[in-house]
Amino acid sequence: MTRRIGILGGTFDPIHCGHVDVGLAAQATLELQRVFVVTSNVPPHRPQPFASAYHRFAMTSFAVAGREGWRASDLELRVHTPSYTSDTLHRFQERGYAATELYFVVGADAFTDIGSWRDYPSILDLANFAVVSRPGYPVDELPHRLPRLESRMVRPPADSLTALEPVIFLIDAETADVSSTAIRRKLAARESIAGLVPPGVQQHIEQHGLYSAMPPGRRASDAPEPSAAGRLHGQD
Ligand code: ATP
Ligand code: MG
Repeated sequence: MTRRIGILGGTFDPIHCGHVDVGLAAQATLELQRVFVVTSNVPPHRPQPFASAYHRFAMTSFAVAGREGWRASDLELRVHTPSYTSDTLHRFQERGYAATELYFVVGADAFTDIGSWRDYPSILDLANFAVVSRPGYPVDELPHRLPRLESRMVRPPADSLTALEPVIFLIDAETADVSSTAIRRKLAARESIAGLVPPGVQQHIEQHGLYSAMPPGRRASDAPEPSAAGRLHGQD
């Protein structure tokens, strides 16, 4: 039996409805049996996320709850080295999945930068890529933007669902016009984020005062040692 395993990676700071829409579009179009939502570990030399890895993982758990086949994966959080997508794909292969069984799900904005990813171009042989449109980033533009990759791009449904070599699927879908940056800005301005994140995620953010207690621009790593005052302000 052919297995079709989706992997949706991101910093998820926080996870939002756009991310969920991307996963759902890929799952429905490519008939994925699993969608692993993999929270990234950000290397120390890069700007750190605003919420801790623990909170970001907790939020992905709320986002996958009740979704058939979806799983929150801590794969990249269990290692303390930078998480590169190519390492993650290798780890899935070590678990017994063939490259043609894996579908790395990514928005069209992020995929446009694929040339700068570690292990490009060999990374394209480690999994299929399922590139989903994002408002302002239609997948139609990708063959033109990435002409060298045009020959690998296919539109589902395609016979290539059972291809012998990994390919790049281009998927047009309506996804929420929202970003993590916009959500953090709203929270810092004490504006509502209802409808922009799954309800469980909204509740977690509110319950812990995530993003609102920190002035914009201040990162979790800049926070002082936990103190009673810090805890009161939801920094734990
Ligand atoms: P930030 O504002 O911090 O960059 P983001 O909302 O863009 O956050 P990321 O963690 O950067 O989210 O993105 C993770 C993945 O989800 C990327 O592949 C990105 O292209 C995709 N993605 C995020 N939001 C959307 C959206 N609204 N529609 C389609 N794809 C999206
Ligand atoms: Mg982004």
